[in-house]
Amino acid sequence: MKLNRQHELFRESVRMVLDRECVELVDDWERDGVMPVHQLCKTLAAEGLLGLTMPVEDGGLGLDLGYSYVWAQELGRVPAGAPAMALSVQTDIVAPLLARAGTPEVRRDVLRPAIRGELVAALAATEPAGGSDLGALTTTAVRTERGFTVNGTKAFITNGSVADFAVVLCRTGEAAGIGDLALLVVPTNLAGVRQVRHTGKLGHRSCDHGTLTFTDVEVPAAYLLGEVGEGYELQTRTFTRERCFLAVVALGQAERVLRATVHHARRRRVLGRALTDHQAIGFRLAELDAELDLVRSYAGEAYQLLADGAQCLREASIAKLRATRLLREVADVGLQVRGAAGYLGVDDVERTYRDARAGSFAGGADEALLHLIAGHLTGTEQE
Ligand SMILES: Cc1cc2nc3c(=O)[nH]c(=O)nc-3n(C[C@H](O)[C@H](O)[C@H](O)COP(=O)(O)OP(=O)(O)OC[C@H]3O[C@@H](n4cnc5c(N)ncnc54)[C@H](O)[C@@H]3O)c2cc1C
Repeated sequence: MKLNRQHELFRESVRMVLDRECVELVDDWERDGVMPVHQLCKTLAAEGLLGLTMPVEDGGLGLDLGYSYVWAQELGRVPAGAPAMALSVQTDIVAPLLARAGTPEVRRDVLRPAIRGELVAALAATEPAGGSDLGALTTTAVRTERGFTVNGTKAFITNGSVADFAVVLCRTGEAAGIGDLALLVVPTNLAGVRQVRHTGKLGHRSCDHGTLTFTDVEVPAAYLLGEVGEGYELQTRTFTRERCFLAVVALGQAERVLRATVHHARRRRVLGRALTDHQAIGFRLAELDAELDLVRSYAGEAYQLLADGAQCLREASIAKLRATRLLREVADVGLQVRGAAGYLGVDDVERTYRDARAGSFAGGADEALLHLIAGHLTGTEQE
């Protein structure tokens, strides 16, 4: 990714804000299992961070995607995955979707308030019966005189039980196959919306994940994004940016853990030598460092393609697949090198180990990404 001096200056300022607003507080949030996402959004919005790349006329800063890239990297420095997960939905998943396809009413009622940090967003595609096969989803949006009636249930949704609105992928029945899918903005204060928090998660303990149930929810026609039938395409575009973003966050997290692991391994002595002087450990860390360089370079190229407006779902998927796998590996080695102390949670590596596990599902299961990559390889998948 081509970054200039302005991007690097931005990095310094965003790092200071995240240190103050997340790094210093996240241990408490994780201990309590609650992140004050509404408060956090308001605070970060005041710094302009919720609308970096959004249009100026919608209250954003209208900056290029290099700023989104730096934002993702810096979120990866926070020693817990929860803030990156919740905020990525707000800034780099839902907001770009609303900016691309939102009607004037959507921009007025949700996009601008979301950029101001007044509303928390969710994107609801996955259902209890599955998330990989979007063509099989069952939530319905049936056209009425004034809009749509929505029925169905979405599960595992980031910000799901706290969001003020959700962008919901629905089946309209107006065409065959995925041609009938539509994305609707559904404010969660509408009659018939029920939000329930998932509890007892392996990781991301302070990040909200929830189920959204819609029972005869009346949604105004103006809250349709794009046209009926464009839901799949819009969702796919969203996946492209989401996967690029998640890849860069994961690499930031991997870099943080690897650095801390090297720091530990240089000080911890076994058989009279630092752990780094044992080739088994030193080479393992070197391999991870080399891999980190390679994947960072690839993810940067994918981000650049995105910034250049190229179709790059395949590249975004490869970046996300490899970056999140690498993070799991780095966290695993990090835990190993710390021995029992790591397992007992003396620092945040144990947390990263748990959080990192979500990387093989969130934003698309590894096998779903491989399915897409294989489709490109064999010529059966096109963007
Ligand atoms: C932390 C977290 C946050 C999330 N946030 C959101 C969110 O905000 N919004 C949202 O809509 N969803 C969200 N999800 C859900 C996520 O998108 C789904 O987990 C993912 O799409 C996979 O769907 P599934 O879990 O229902 O698994 P299924 O679709 O039931 O798949 C189960 C398993 O089957 C395998 N599989 C899948 N596809 C293939 C294939 N083509 N070939 C072979 N094997 C395959 C994989 O191993 C997969 O894990 C989140 C998930 C997590 C863990």
